[in-house]
Amino acid sequence: MYDSSENKQEAIAAIRTQLTQSIGAKKCHPCGCFRQSVETLLLSEMVRGDLAKELEEARSAFEPQKYDCLGCAVCWPAVAMNALAEADPDSANAAAHCPTEDVSERLGWPPLPGDYRVLRYRAPVALCMLNSEDLAARVFEAAPEGLAIAGTLHTENLGIERVIRNVLANPNIRVLVLCGEDTVQAIGHLPGQSLVSLLQNGTDEQGRIIGAKGKRPLLKNVTADQVAAFRRQVSLIEHIGVTDLARILDVIHESAGSSPGAFSEAPPEITVEAIRAEEPRKLVLDPAGFFVVYPDGRRDLIVVEHYTNNGVLNVIVEGKTSPAVYAEVIGRNLVTRLDHAAYLGRELARAERALRTGEPYVQDRAPGETEVEPVSAPSKCGCGASCGE
Ligand code: SF4
Repeated sequence: MYDSSENKQEAIAAIRTQLTQSIGAKKCHPCGCFRQSVETLLLSEMVRGDLAKELEEARSAFEPQKYDCLGCAVCWPAVAMNALAEADPDSANAAAHCPTEDVSERLGWPPLPGDYRVLRYRAPVALCMLNSEDLAARVFEAAPEGLAIAGTLHTENLGIERVIRNVLANPNIRVLVLCGEDTVQAIGHLPGQSLVSLLQNGTDEQGRIIGAKGKRPLLKNVTADQVAAFRRQVSLIEHIGVTDLARILDVIHESAGSSPGAFSEAPPEITVEAIRAEEPRKLVLDPAGFFVVYPDGRRDLIVVEHYTNNGVLNVIVEGKTSPAVYAEVIGRNLVTRLDHAAYLGRELARAERALRTGEPYVQDRAPGETEVEPVSAPSKCGCGASCGE
């Protein structure tokens, strides 16, 4: 903190040096990051007085904006902003974040879009892989049990706000595992270090993450109550720098086992309804006809015979796998009801399993009671007409 006039002069000197670098660098001239930093510096009386000439030069260097932020390894305006935050926090906090697109909340979970993938809702672990995009692909493929959501995180302001709001909207999440590479830039975004600081220290009255060293660790779109609830809801397991998949899967497994259960102080705005499904009561016949399914072990094929509802064989579809068969069935419009398609999918999966394992297969009847009298005697599979059973 620059708490003496000598220290303030140090801050001014640091800001001057960084501004001069940006003014001299063409890449900064069309950059939103440079523009926003200069506008923020102009808010500070302390800086305005001493650096009027540099600020004017900086503004005259502006060109039509081409990008929000290049994420440069060393971002001079960001260093200037960090010096301002120390010397004149009110002015630094009065400005917006690094320029990024606005996001709007949607119904369901997670409410905010981002660089993540949902694996399941009722699971206790959220995995944040920071800037390790290739690790993310391998984790998604492994889809370990206990993992609810996994994603990357690139910024210490809007990115962390999304983590907070998406986690708060799912009370099942109780552990946040942090791994992967934090930004390599020495003076760029440091979302990992900022997230650790947030969970350890919280935010100050302006929403600045206490102890965060990133570019602009300012949370403006979450309330102090939301931050406090987030800190109570999740425990942090910190493995910044770890990218070894096997180790991360172990950590997820252990973390899931230590979950204390759903967070009871979950905020009321959760939008996901849990419905207990009941057995279907009615069976409505598909006007397109019915199927007889069987595995043909001799030829290593799944066979589906399609009959019209008056019991006439219409076509036979054969395939090596259930997706091959159902894609052909759908492509030929042999199924026109969703419940019938679901039933067929289940039977194809069972037949495929029997083909692979040699287990016996008997076609199950479709669930529910038929509404109309079948044309001929009901078959074993419940399709309502002759199906060979
Ligand atoms: S990110 Fe920073 S250093 Fe890079 S172009 Fe933008 S303002 Fe300049």
